[in-house]
Amino acid sequence: MELDRVDRDREAAEDWGGVPDAAEWQATARAPARVATVSARSVAHGRRTQSACPATIRPARAAAREWRGTSAVIVSIASGKGGTGKTLIATSLALVLKERGPVTLLDCDVEEPNDYIYMKPTQTRSEPVAIPVPFVDESKCIGCGMCHDVCAFNAIVVLGKTVLVFKELCHGCGACTRFCPVGAITEVPNEIGVVEEGKVEGIRFFDGVLSIGQPMAPPIIREVRKHAGTDGVTIIDASPGTSCPVVEAVRDSDFCILVTEPTPFGLNDLRLAVETVRELGLPHGAIINRAGVGDDRTEAYCRSEGIPILMTIPLEERIAHTYSRGVPLVEALPEYGERFLEMFDRIREMVNERRRST
Ligand code: SF4
Ligand code: SF4
Repeated sequence: MELDRVDRDREAAEDWGGVPDAAEWQATARAPARVATVSARSVAHGRRTQSACPATIRPARAAAREWRGTSAVIVSIASGKGGTGKTLIATSLALVLKERGPVTLLDCDVEEPNDYIYMKPTQTRSEPVAIPVPFVDESKCIGCGMCHDVCAFNAIVVLGKTVLVFKELCHGCGACTRFCPVGAITEVPNEIGVVEEGKVEGIRFFDGVLSIGQPMAPPIIREVRKHAGTDGVTIIDASPGTSCPVVEAVRDSDFCILVTEPTPFGLNDLRLAVETVRELGLPHGAIINRAGVGDDRTEAYCRSEGIPILMTIPLEERIAHTYSRGVPLVEALPEYGERFLEMFDRIREMVNERRRST
């Protein structure tokens, strides 16, 4: 694998403030280090609610302000917690919109991509994704410890003239290579997952798959996002929660649909998701799934916060049954097709209105 094809978190770090010297690098990079290395697979399903680090939020917020002068629309789908029905929404929206024009579906929930279960694509391509990790030539190393000092992620340890690299912790930021005084460090690619392309009638389909044990989702999400359509509608299915992978997936989308459910957990995690999209400056609305299961506090919250409720989907056995069999909602219950189209028209109008005013 060519090194220039691998992704670099250092780009995000440099967007955040540059890399003027070792001390400043360390000071600025410590903040993301605290939150970016948790393996989502180790967090209980449905409760992945880490916060995103500033290094991800700030460039994303800037990107969100840059409206594209194009008719292409990117709609992201997120939720504060897992299991709310993001996949149900993403796949149904893609299926109804393909009748109108070009549609691209990007499954950016790279820790548990499952849109493919409903879309049933024929896989046409699989591209590895890697980040650059340090390789130390110990014959050149003088044991100065600088590489350890500048590493914000504790991914490199110096014991005398032995240097240990912990690839699973490495973010590929390049600081150790840059600051090694004797040029003992070079970079080699470390594969962390793949981007897959699949063929579905009338829809361009891509998903990212993070390798088991790898904690670094954002580089794969960035690779998946590169396949966003240049025309028509791109639908992005983001990870649940509010951490860096979510920000990476939803950043600079034209509109973010927040899927929730009317339960205390749903409301709590919706509040967190709303904080995140507001921080990013993204227009957003809510879909309340499994309506009837809890109370009306989620709806009341949306109304009090001026968040448009785009659709409510009742808790119904026939929907759950359909979903559990891997059949998209609009295929099993075609009456939902019109509702999804009406919802998209509403979103499109909000996007157009915003474009006209910026
Ligand atoms: S080991 Fe080097 S490239 Fe990896 S995170 Fe630490 S400083 Fe950055
Ligand atoms: S910075 Fe370079 S010379 Fe110093 S300990 Fe690390 S690899 Fe060795």
